[in-house]
Amino acid sequence: GSLLSAQDLRKAYGPTNALDGAHFSIHPGEVVAVMGPSGSGKSTLLHCLAGIVPPDSGVITYNGRELSAMSDGERSALRRSDFGFVFQFGQLVPELSCVENVALPLRLNGAKRKEAERTALTWMERLEVDDLAKKRPGEVSGGQGQRVAVARSLVTSPRVLFADEPTGALDSLNGERVMQLLTDAARSTNAAVVLVTHEARVAAYSDREIVVRDGKSRDMEPVL
Ligand code: ADP
Ligand code: ADP
Repeated sequence: GSLLSAQDLRKAYGPTNALDGAHFSIHPGEVVAVMGPSGSGKSTLLHCLAGIVPPDSGVITYNGRELSAMSDGERSALRRSDFGFVFQFGQLVPELSCVENVALPLRLNGAKRKEAERTALTWMERLEVDDLAKKRPGEVSGGQGQRVAVARSLVTSPRVLFADEPTGALDSLNGERVMQLLTDAARSTNAAVVLVTHEARVAAYSDREIVVRDGKSRDMEPVL
């Protein structure tokens, strides 16, 4: 069955229907690209699926549980234990070294520093940024910083990785490198990836695309 699914999601901001009956489903290990023009509701869909924004109506089910039936505390605990996040900008803590940034989610879950940083380094190796461990985010390039952010998003071995325009601030060469490493790492751990992008070149790394238009999403033919 599907790991995460949504039926008939609606979400309005005042007069704007951001989601107008959207459907979605994703299986373990699957990479799904959510496509559509700016303002079509992609980020709203991601925020609803991740339990960050409550939809006005519709049902979201994760691993057999309805998100709306959970308390706020249960939803935040679920986000920490099962979900990873990577965004377009500004996600690394500038005062921490890169390895401290990657280790941070483990530290927040109570892991000891040495153990957390050892695990962080294995993820940094997979994203090919282990040589930057001691540097601050301000001392690395945009593409390197984004690979550090991807390492951090995967360090807790999430079941679902939510990636909102993860290459939006990068040139195409660095964007492709981030996407290749991100999808390889996610597939190796059977993490599902919800990838929001408006770029076909980025969506090409997915197993399947859905297109959001005027707040509605429909499944498309698989692209290979
Ligand atoms: P785009 O989606 O076109 O890349 P933005 O996300 O910045 O650009 O915003 C798109 C539109 O959504 C804008 O008209 C903006 O006013 C509106 N918008 C986005 N976020 C908010 C918000 N938090 N409050 C009010 N309006 C918002
Ligand atoms: P996309 O990610 O595809 O650019 P969004 O989900 O950001 O689209 O936005 C969908 C629509 O909802 C847009 O019209 C945007 O202006 C509006 N919107 C999104 N977030 C807010 C918000 N917090 N307040 C008001 N309007 C918003």
